[in-house]
Amino acid sequence: MMKGYAMLSTGKTGWIQKEKPVCGPKDAIVRPLAVSPCTSDVHTVWEGALGDRHNMILGHEGCGVVVEVGAAVKDFKPGDRIMVAAITPDWDSIEAQEGYAMHSGGMLAGWKFSNFKDGVFGEYFHVNDADGNLAHLPDNVTVEEACMLSDMVPTGFHGAELADIQFGDTVLVVGIGPVGLMSVAAANMRGASRIIAVGTRQVCIDAAKGYGATDFISYKDGPLDEQVLKLTNGKGVDKAIVAGGGVETFEPVINALKPGGKIGNVNYLGGGDYINIPRVGWGVGMGHKQINGGLMPGGRARIERLARLIQYGKLDVNPLLTHKFEGFDHIEEALFLMKDKPRDLIKPVVVIER
Ligand code: NAD
Ligand code: ZN
Repeated sequence: MMKGYAMLSTGKTGWIQKEKPVCGPKDAIVRPLAVSPCTSDVHTVWEGALGDRHNMILGHEGCGVVVEVGAAVKDFKPGDRIMVAAITPDWDSIEAQEGYAMHSGGMLAGWKFSNFKDGVFGEYFHVNDADGNLAHLPDNVTVEEACMLSDMVPTGFHGAELADIQFGDTVLVVGIGPVGLMSVAAANMRGASRIIAVGTRQVCIDAAKGYGATDFISYKDGPLDEQVLKLTNGKGVDKAIVAGGGVETFEPVINALKPGGKIGNVNYLGGGDYINIPRVGWGVGMGHKQINGGLMPGGRARIERLARLIQYGKLDVNPLLTHKFEGFDHIEEALFLMKDKPRDLIKPVVVIER
């Protein structure tokens, strides 16, 4: 048996005992070295956004050490220190062959940890398709940094990919929690000129400046579209990345886009039934304004690429890590921090072993 921190049912969490996961021929069983709770865990538990789940171990951000591999696994063995992304696709699926591995097996079904199976907040966790989903943890990447490579970096960077950031673009980033901050960093790396960040907490504003944001507005100071249009002399922005707020953010963001503008959404919309598209703001149907929303791509190649940004000093994720805990038993406290979002929090991380 093993211990894990679980969603007991919608709105309820607690420690449970469960059978250790079983290793199939292509799988690995991993013991976590560090884990981090995510806003998505909060949407899942307290908004019931994925539907009810019973006694499901939470968590999808972590790194660890391999304890067992299946007979078909070639590149990993017990004792290897590994990174793993939050999204672990089935690489032989039709969806993966079509280029959408994150949806392997159905909509969002590449997201297995803390969705369709137990997550990483257990004494052990299971990884499907180990050769395609694990990556060796480089010596010069810390366990805390590796946790940020599971989800915050790949998701934030996917926002910049979905928004198709080009040299010189003026970019609006809505929400500068850890995901939005990584979108600011990614937009900056892709050559954005002006980056207008929407956020209110000082700790996030300071971090966003460090990652390349040039202007700041608060959604508490009035409608976003009006503020953005004022800042841009009525022209609007080329691209927008949405990484915070709810379904209500799209209407002003569409209004704030130039014709031909693109929105990259990585926000997990935990509530609300519809997104309103403003008829006039959308160019009465002819404004060439695109909305792209996507779950982050997972897998080995992606995490290895993003890790190289850390290894070669191009990206520092440490400004995200405002709250650090030592010891497995602190997972509960860390998750509740993510739920309650004190003003000085960006991201908590729990180090279990170095
Ligand atoms: P977060 O809650 O820490 O940050 C979101 C920020 O948005 C907060 O700082 C909040 O103050 C701000 N905000 C709230 N309402 C706003 C509004 N109306 N306008 C502008 N900003 C507003 O969350 P996070 O950890 O940075 O994650 C961001 C989102 O990305 C979450 O919904 C999360 O579930 C989602 N997510 C998606 C993926 C994916 O693969 N697409 C992966 C991980 C997380
Ligand atoms: Zn996450």
